[in-house]
Amino acid sequence: MHVTVDQNRCCSSGQCVLTAPTVFDQSEEDGLVLLLQDEPAEALHPQVRTAAAICPSGAISLTVGQAVGA
Ligand code: SF4
Repeated sequence: MHVTVDQNRCCSSGQCVLTAPTVFDQSEEDGLVLLLQDEPAEALHPQVRTAAAICPSGAISLTVGQAVGA
């Protein structure tokens, strides 16, 4: 899974940080989402999917199913 965030869409609600705090953080300056890891471990995928689903501004995008070369 590859994760991307769009800070231009983020409305600083913090839902993603509450849901997956090891993957998302918020800027202390403006509250915008910060991505801590863009290839989270499989164990984190459910949290990341939930975060993407509940983000009120659709700022979190997930790419899945792409094979990653060795
Ligand atoms: S849930 Fe969405 S809008 Fe809220 S801080 Fe995270 S990326 Fe931004």
